[in-house]
Amino acid sequence: MKVAVVRETRPGEARVAMVPELVGELTALGCLVLVEPGAGDRAEFTDEAYVDAGAVLDEGAVRQADLVLAVQPPDPAVVREMRSGAALISFLPVRQEREVVVALRDAGVTSFAMELVPRISRAQPMDALSSQAFVAGYRAAIVASGLLRRFLPMSITAAGTVPPAEVVVLGAGVAGLQAIATMQRLGAVVRAYDVRASAAEEIASLGAVPIDLGLAPLDGAAGYAREMTAARSARQQELLAPYVANADVLITTAAVPGLRAPVLVSRAMVEAMRPGSVVVDIAAEAGGNVEGVRPGEIVRIGQAQVWGGADVTSQLPAPASQLYARNVLSLLTSMTLPGDSAVFAPDFADEIVAGCAVTRDGAIVHPPTRDLIG
Ligand code: NAD
Repeated sequence: MKVAVVRETRPGEARVAMVPELVGELTALGCLVLVEPGAGDRAEFTDEAYVDAGAVLDEGAVRQADLVLAVQPPDPAVVREMRSGAALISFLPVRQEREVVVALRDAGVTSFAMELVPRISRAQPMDALSSQAFVAGYRAAIVASGLLRRFLPMSITAAGTVPPAEVVVLGAGVAGLQAIATMQRLGAVVRAYDVRASAAEEIASLGAVPIDLGLAPLDGAAGYAREMTAARSARQQELLAPYVANADVLITTAAVPGLRAPVLVSRAMVEAMRPGSVVVDIAAEAGGNVEGVRPGEIVRIGQAQVWGGADVTSQLPAPASQLYARNVLSLLTSMTLPGDSAVFAPDFADEIVAGCAVTRDGAIVHPPTRDLIG
């Protein structure tokens, strides 16, 4: 079984789908690992490191492969180079990537979308949404610390006491909790808010203070949040305003699956922040939690610097790739019969395989995508 590791081509993408450290596990399964030269360059993994780990550099890797590994969905032109009957594992946001899905269907490629892996306990090692959110949350805290021209921890010195920074985190999913944990470690005073009922306990377990707005929880399906009504959004903003105004650092990470990110903070709320305040919005690419944020830019709103995240995980490309590659390897292993020459044999009756399969045998097999594209 030939496994190809592609060189990512999208601007801003610095990760790679397989790292040298895990190549040995693929070869032990019975796979031949073909790596496009330079695939790991932007993630700080050299061609030599892949070769030393047992991979073969091959510019034509995709054309020969039984299974292609990527981070971003490959361009339709690359899909058309793949063998009919070959498979792809990558992120594949089907709503935004209809052209790629159609190309995969028409090329007879079997494709698996990492973001569709069901979030059940057995699939935790394959959960790339969590691993990448973990990276983004950490990065958000570090970016905010770097932009803030103040101390984070309280410091008692002979020349007086420096007060700790006040940090507010909105959205306490995987990314938000990691931002909270990182800010706690750096010594800031952290308060956080999330609409899910279980969030307050998770926030408190990290030593941060849950913000209680006295509003009803908004739990939706599968442990995710529900969308806010316009009235709820207005009320939530009103109640959050004093917390935001008092923050030296505001980090926002809120998302609702399949929808634009909810706007939690209005321009007026940011304008009420003190001089030198810092806002980091990692939902910027999904529309932003903060009004006026721009992905990939720092804009000034009132007296605050507002940082909009773009390709946030690619800002820590080596660890993001390591974690993603481990997720991919776990999924791949569950679908492979090991041997002298391994065989890719996904069991479509398995909940995980069925959950993340998008195309198979010239058809779209993911029902919502089929409804969308046909
Ligand atoms: P996400 O990226 O979809 O959203 C981030 C956070 O934003 C969520 O916590 C959400 O509740 C919050 N949010 C949405 N709207 C909001 C609003 N209006 N105001 C404030 N906060 C808002 O979420 P995620 O990080 O993927 O995690 C979502 C849930 O899935 C969590 O309960 C998490 O524990 C759970 N989860 C389960 C597994 C598993 O069982 N394998 C794995 C990962 C996450």
